This record gives sequence, C-alpha cells and structure tokens, in this order.
Amino acid sequence: MGEKTGQCLCGAVKFRATPKSGDVGVCHCGMCQRWSGGVFMAVSCGDRVEIEDETHLGVYVSSEWGDRCFCDVCGSTLFWRMRDGTNVAVAAPAFDDMADLTFTEEIFIDEKPMMYAFVNETIKRTGAEMRAQLEAHLKKENAS
Ligand SMILES: [Zn+2]
Ligand SMILES: [Zn+2]
Repeated sequence: MGEKTGQCLCGAVKFRATPKSGDVGVCHCGMCQRWSGGVFMAVSCGDRVEIEDETHLGVYVSSEWGDRCFCDVCGSTLFWRMRDGTNVAVAAPAFDDMADLTFTEEIFIDEKPMMYAFVNETIKRTGAEMRAQLEAHLKKENAS
C-alpha cells in the first residue's frame, strides 16, 4: 500500500504514513476505551510514519512498552506506538482518506463492553493471546 496523509482535527499535527496493508484492527481494551472515547481503530504502519512538525504532538507513556500520541491543541487521538520504535499503529480516522481500508481484526475482545458489537466478519483475539504475542516479540527484539 502507498503512502497516506493524515492529520488531527485542528491540523496542528500532520503526518505521512505507509500502512503495511489496508487492514484496520480495533482494540477493545479498557485503556483504548478511555483514551479514544470509544474504540481505537488502527492501521499498522511499522516504523514508516513521518510527522511534519512535532511541536504539538502530545505523548503519554501508558505502559512500559507503549506510548499514546495525540494533538495537545485539539486532543485528537493519533497513534499508539511501541516504545522501541518497531511499530506505530495510526488511528484510521486520522487519515484523510479511508476508502482503501478494510476492518478485519478485533483485539482484546474479552474486554469489549456488552453495549455494542460490530457486524463485520473479523478475526478476534483475546487479551491473553495479545500478551503472549507481545512477549514473543519482545523476546525476539532482546535476542537480536
Ligand atoms: Zn489538533
Ligand atoms: Zn487497546
């Protein structure tokens, strides 16, 4: 997939990113619910995200492995990124154009509130499955 442009609501933070694919994943974890005010809909972009001007990029360190980035002017949710720089998950609605994106995966499905459910056909993973995947990733990074 080619490079895409995006920005926050007020335009203080603009970026360019190259998604690994057009797949959109939704995270139902409790942290993403509070942070995004709903569900975090993200596109995995590896390390291929360039921010035009970081002056108004707010960074909240939410865990020992992840940062949550937002616009410190308008408050828009923008990116979740691995602190080791290996992966940036860009908020799908921050892209200027979402026409080439497809919603394919739901993670932390066991933390999804009962009040809603998506009808899309998706791959669903639990929090335990995600934590095992993250541990395997960190082990591999430490070994190399
Ligand atoms: Zn903004
Ligand atoms: Zn989450």
